[in-house]
Amino acid sequence: MPELFIDGSWVAPAAGGTRTITCPADGSEVAVVSEAGADDAVAAVRAARRAFDSGEWPNTPSPERGALLGRLADKLEAEKEQVARLEALDTGKRMVEARIDMDDIIAVFRHFARLANADAGRVVDTGMPDVRSRVVHEPVGVCALITPWNYPLLQTSWKVAPALAAGNTFVLKPSELTPSTSIWLARALDELGLPAGVANLVLGPGATVGAAMTEAPEVDLVSFTGGLETGKRIMAAAAPTVKRVALELGGKNPNVVFADADRSAAIDNALTAVFLDSGQVCSGGARLVVEESIHDEVVAELVRRAELIRLGGPFDEEAETGPLISEAHREKVQRYVDEAVADGARLLTGGAIPTGGDLARGWFYPPTILDGCTGEMRCVHDESFGPVLTVETFSGATPDEAEDAAVAIANDTIYGLAGAVWTQHAGRAERVAGRLRHGTIWINDYHPYVPGAEWGGYKQSGIGRELGLAGLEEYRETKHIWHNTRPAPAGWFADR
Ligand code: NDP
Repeated sequence: MPELFIDGSWVAPAAGGTRTITCPADGSEVAVVSEAGADDAVAAVRAARRAFDSGEWPNTPSPERGALLGRLADKLEAEKEQVARLEALDTGKRMVEARIDMDDIIAVFRHFARLANADAGRVVDTGMPDVRSRVVHEPVGVCALITPWNYPLLQTSWKVAPALAAGNTFVLKPSELTPSTSIWLARALDELGLPAGVANLVLGPGATVGAAMTEAPEVDLVSFTGGLETGKRIMAAAAPTVKRVALELGGKNPNVVFADADRSAAIDNALTAVFLDSGQVCSGGARLVVEESIHDEVVAELVRRAELIRLGGPFDEEAETGPLISEAHREKVQRYVDEAVADGARLLTGGAIPTGGDLARGWFYPPTILDGCTGEMRCVHDESFGPVLTVETFSGATPDEAEDAAVAIANDTIYGLAGAVWTQHAGRAERVAGRLRHGTIWINDYHPYVPGAEWGGYKQSGIGRELGLAGLEEYRETKHIWHNTRPAPAGWFADR
């Protein structure tokens, strides 16, 4: 069966293309899937437009829309192992992580299932007894949803769940590298009885298929997660037709450790912050900003622990993290490390592609630590999106000066997605959290999130928010309805 889902049917690409999907852990073939062209994307967008304009899904009562999302969560729960396996094979991530992703996705669908009929609007007091004024929410329309390869179905759920809850129709384009769970999703929505044309799936390259979606005049909103440069291109492509744009871009996230932090918790979490999923996490704590007085002790322990981390494929029970997504991405990470060293950073561990054993068959890269980094170096500002930690230090003649120095370093970035502060001083923790210009701040923790809380970036990390209540607002228009129950001439212009 072909894998493009357009207007309620599984269809082959107009030009008949295919793509072989391989597992990044060993290069083995996972699947051969359809590869769309721009014409297929346009057909999908038009199907979504017709489905929206027919009004069937937008006018479906919101509790019913929520109930469908609930049934989708039930289905994923029932098929969790199978879907986790698809995700693990496409991304190379360990099964244990893929299962956690599935739990997160189920929670996301349930969150938006609950929100679907929340906040129906409000009545506004006009001060005029014969006028009823109310503010109501409506779906935005046709949504182009473009998602990356690091958390394929999870990032997709952050968009598809609120889009459907709010009554929109959509065209989804996953990363060309990791389409399998998006195919599962389209099949599931089809089986659950979503009307034809509400959910459409096209597979293919961003440069053609993604670009056609962002340019199409029939699209009302583009929601994108991925790299900064692609995000800029998407904004430019959306500008001529003034589409609404929601962007979740990268980050270069500071993990600030003060000398009074719980040392063992801070060190252990600093490892998870940066090396989880081999650093392919937009909110990863890739910048350690540590108080100078504890630098040597913290860094020595980080190096010791980093060298113990075991790399391996999805089904390797001993493995603690997996490969990078592709050869091209690994080359990019290696270039980033080489440039950092050329700029004066000290390579303490890692920094070289494994050449022996099973690891040589996949796109593995070892946990890497670069010390002696400063704000003048590119490695501190550029996203490697790999398992690479840069270490910067701060100090001050007084505790307040140290705090100011830490905040200045942590905010010295074009990004603003996430960051953390480690200290046992409650006042300092609150002050620093308040001053950091990032969308998520962890105090004495790193990485956890809940679907009920908003997620998104300050500065060049993006526009808008996903999850929480704002994650639903992205997919809704707001309309003011003024109803004069006693119509009368306005009398502004004289009737001569
Ligand atoms: P991209 O930004 O290139 O890709 C993300 C998605 O956008 C993919 O579906 C891609 O399609 C699509 N796309 C690419 N070009 C266009 C375009 N012109 N118009 C519309 N859609 C397009 O990310 P990469 O996969 O190349 O990764 C590059 C960098 O992005 C990473 O190194 C990292 O810095 C960052 N990144 C950030 C993520 C995050 O969670 N914030 C997630 C992943 C990456 P396709 O892949 O099929 O070409």
